[in-house]
This record gives sequence, structure tokens and C-alpha cells, in this order.
Amino acid sequence: MKFKKLAALALSMALAASMLMGCGGSSSKDTAESDTQAAGNETAAFTTVNDGVLTMATNAQFPPYEFYDGSNIVGIDAEIAKAVADKLGLELKIEDMEFNSIIGSVQSGKVDMGLAGMTVTEERKQSVNFTESYATGIQSIIVKEGSDIKTVDDLTGKKIGVQLSTTGDIYATDDYGEENVEKYNKGADAVQALITDKVDCVIIDNQPAKAFVADNEGLKILDTEYTTEEYAACLSKDNEALLKAVDGAIKELKEDGTIQSILDKYIVAD
Ligand code: GLN
Repeated sequence: MKFKKLAALALSMALAASMLMGCGGSSSKDTAESDTQAAGNETAAFTTVNDGVLTMATNAQFPPYEFYDGSNIVGIDAEIAKAVADKLGLELKIEDMEFNSIIGSVQSGKVDMGLAGMTVTEERKQSVNFTESYATGIQSIIVKEGSDIKTVDDLTGKKIGVQLSTTGDIYATDDYGEENVEKYNKGADAVQALITDKVDCVIIDNQPAKAFVADNEGLKILDTEYTTEEYAACLSKDNEALLKAVDGAIKELKEDGTIQSILDKYIVAD
């Protein structure tokens, strides 16, 4: 009796299981097929310069977005790029170059993307595609303590130091003329020029500005901001599929709070 009951139970369970498997099986097979297709599409759809590798161009003189820790490039952009690469199943490789060379390297297909605290501008959009923005930047003005430059309005007729081809350079050149703007390859060189009185102020993004002021006595950042802007990754116009993949990854990393926690790790609220 006991055995029969058990056997019947086992049989009905087996039946139920096979029915479940029958229908569940076929539906999960469909899902599996479409999953494979979707995954297949995703991986097959984008190509990178080197298979399995996401090659990023940056200028590692831009703390806290990118800077050297020993021989490693670390910072906000390095961590975001690593999270993006992980999501896409790629290994990350970072190439350090002059800021001025990043867009060209992306355009010519030497690298997959530029991630360099780079501001989205209409002009740059003519040359490269941008992802959704992942951070806000501000162009700040650094002066020596005691400077007669108190606000943005005092910049007329002054010598302004900038980093070549950055938005600080582009806007200052537009507003104050080529003859008043001294261009340096590195932000740190512009700051050095300020310290040695070769320029009267430096226009540069606010986070590196803070780092430079913290590292050099006698400098300060003006309270008035020059401009506010958006940072994004740039990719080649010839690789829409990779743009979509990287953009999708950045959106997800924003939504799940990963990007905010990376920003918070490096940027201490004032
Ligand atoms: N945000 C500025 C720009 O895009 C500076 C970026 C940088 O120096 N890395 O021009």
C-alpha cells in the first residue's frame, strides 16, 4: 500500500515533470535560441581594433579622471572603462597620448574610444560620435593668490594659460583672441607657467584645477565658473555598433549606481 502510493506519486511526479519539461523545455529552447541569437548579434555586431580588447586613448595628466599611480594609469575614466570592458566581455588596454591626439586616433581607428574627461562639443561631433554623458565638468580659472583677477570679467587683456585643444583653449581663444592665450601640452605645464608668471591665469577643468591648487602653494580657484559642460566617451563614426555597445554599457552603469560610486570615490564634495 505504502509502496503503491509512493509509486503512484512518483509516477505522477514523473508525468508532471515530463509535461513540465515538455512545455517548459520547448519554451526555454525558444528563449535559449533567441538568447543565443541576441548574444550572437551583440558580440558579432561590434568589432574592436584588437579582438577581445577595448583600446582606450587618454591623456593621463588629468587627475582625478586619469593620472599615474606608479606605472599604472588610474582614475575615474580608467575605472569606468574597466567596468564597460567587463560588461562587453573585453579586456581593457589604455594608451596614454597627448590630449590633442585622442580624436585623431579614434578617427583613424588606432584606438576604439577616447575617454579623457572629454567635453562634448558640436565641433568635435563633426569628427567623432559621443556616448551619453557620464559626468559634468566645469571650466575653472586658477590665479595666484593676491591676483587682480577677481572674476571672469577681469580676464580681458590678461595672458591666459590653457591646455592645447581643450575646451579651455577653444573658449578662451574665441573670447579673448589667439594673442592672449598661451597653449601648453599638459595642464601641469600651464600651471607651471602661472607659477613662474608667464601667464596671469589658467583656464582648466575644475577637478584637475583642484588637484593642481592642492599640489602648489599660493594658487587659488576663482569662485566664478567660466563654463559648465558634459563629459562623454568618443568613438569612431565608422563603428556605430561599438558606439551602441559602449553607450548601452554606460547607461547601465549609470542606472545601477556604479558610475556615481566611482565619481564619489575620487571626488570629495566641497
Ligand atoms: N574637458 C576638456 C576638454 O574636453 C579637457 C579634457 C582634458 O584635458 N583631458 O577639452
